[in-house]
Amino acid sequence: MSTPQHFDLIALGGGSGGLAAAERAAQLGKRVLLIEPNALGGTCVNLGCVPKKLMWYGAQVAESLRNAAGFGFDVEVKGFSWKTLVDARRARVKGIGDWWAGYAVEQGITLVKGYGRFVNANTVEVDGEQYTAPHIVVSTGGRPFVPPVPGADLGITSDGFFALDEQPKRVAILGGGYIGVEIAGLMRSFGSEVTVADIAPRILMPFDLMLSETLSQHMRHEGIELRMPFRTAGLRKTDDGIVIDGAEGEALGPFDCVIWAAGRKPNTEAIGLDVAGVEVQPNGFVPTDAYQNTNVAGIYAIGDITGRVALTPVAVAAGRRLMMRLFAGQAEAKLNYDNIPSVVFSHPPMGSVGLTETQAREQFGMAVTVYQTDFTPMKYAMVAHKSPTAMKLVCVGTEEKVIGVHIIGDGADEMLQGFGVAVKAGLTKADFDNTVAIHPTSSEELVTLKVPNPAL
Ligand SMILES: Cc1cc2nc3c(=O)[nH]c(=O)nc-3n(C[C@H](O)[C@H](O)[C@H](O)COP(=O)(O)OP(=O)(O)OC[C@H]3O[C@@H](n4cnc5c(N)ncnc54)[C@H](O)[C@@H]3O)c2cc1C
Repeated sequence: MSTPQHFDLIALGGGSGGLAAAERAAQLGKRVLLIEPNALGGTCVNLGCVPKKLMWYGAQVAESLRNAAGFGFDVEVKGFSWKTLVDARRARVKGIGDWWAGYAVEQGITLVKGYGRFVNANTVEVDGEQYTAPHIVVSTGGRPFVPPVPGADLGITSDGFFALDEQPKRVAILGGGYIGVEIAGLMRSFGSEVTVADIAPRILMPFDLMLSETLSQHMRHEGIELRMPFRTAGLRKTDDGIVIDGAEGEALGPFDCVIWAAGRKPNTEAIGLDVAGVEVQPNGFVPTDAYQNTNVAGIYAIGDITGRVALTPVAVAAGRRLMMRLFAGQAEAKLNYDNIPSVVFSHPPMGSVGLTETQAREQFGMAVTVYQTDFTPMKYAMVAHKSPTAMKLVCVGTEEKVIGVHIIGDGADEMLQGFGVAVKAGLTKADFDNTVAIHPTSSEELVTLKVPNPAL
């Protein structure tokens, strides 16, 4: 073994969090080592946000084609090539990873390909080589969780979904969280028969009930079978495909493809956190304080392994702020985890920021006022296949501070960013009403909502 190489910062994991931290530290003139065994970009670029969104755009095209006749187009769709879409998607994803690799080198970041592991609190080893730094940021992300039921490995996960070279015709998705719902919507838009089953009574449990109910209704309308609550006892192979056995004796299927979307586990077992003395919770997450510090000085955790909000921009923001604190003299720099907007790329998409109505009523009781609307957007006035929109503002107090915005419908994904700023800024219903509407849009409804729902 050669003498350890020394850096100002080691970033363990080249996904959303690790890349953001490494880039910022390098821009601040620090000597940075980034350790990553796979393509740069992590889950988001390779197995998450990016390939998923590219598929979602494809599904949008499928939906537009269905409605083209309503606008006078005489379109004959001769077919859909899953392979063409998937090959183009893979090329795009590879391009992003390659770009990052070149850019990181330009920024002066040293890249080491391999699995890193702590050998003590300031030393990491990769393939027998040791590297030291006074600051080590851990962002090794997560992987899909597969429940240990008989036949579980007959199913694939979201990682396997992105590896599919052929479109399965009969698909079951086990899990009605955002990843399950997104894959279900994509597959249905491309023409597969889709069933979603979950142990929970409804899809998207953490989201506002209005979003969950509106989407469930539309998914059923589009021909997706929702089976919940359904407890999976096991998977088995039959001559006609994979059958899912339920704990109550019922069976679903057969299917060509079963996709587990039952949550994710942090990648924290095999990186020597115990050797470094870093506390890890029984569920594998690494607890941190508000400044991303672990219990060991000089070791920080960001992104999905912290068990906080598992989204790319959260990992990025936490990483950048941490670097500003460590290397730019901003002693108080830290990410505020309140009011983080998030979107589900369902069909139609949905977005949320702040408290759900249920959370608000639990917290503030009778002081909560809710404004709500639902309608069919103008885009669907002249076509056969319509898609719903529903919106809700959750307000609190006599000043009606807006503490929650929930939208489902076309454009919700793009609309929500601006309304996220409004909620973060603590604006009131009166501020919303004082903003002149943009017409004709769906989003104008959010600044023209009139009658509050009575308190429950
Ligand atoms: C299907 C899917 C869709 C998603 N869609 C969205 C979305 O639309 N919007 C959104 O904001 N978020 C989305 N996410 C979540 C998002 O991808 C994650 O929150 C984000 O990638 C977390 O960043 P991270 O840095 O914590 O981990 P990751 O991006 O997972 O990066 C961790 C990296 O660490 C590496 N690694 C693991 N072990 C080691 C080791 N021992 N040494 C060195 N490196 C190691 C891994 O190879 C990986 O590259 C999605 C996730 C999935 C699975």
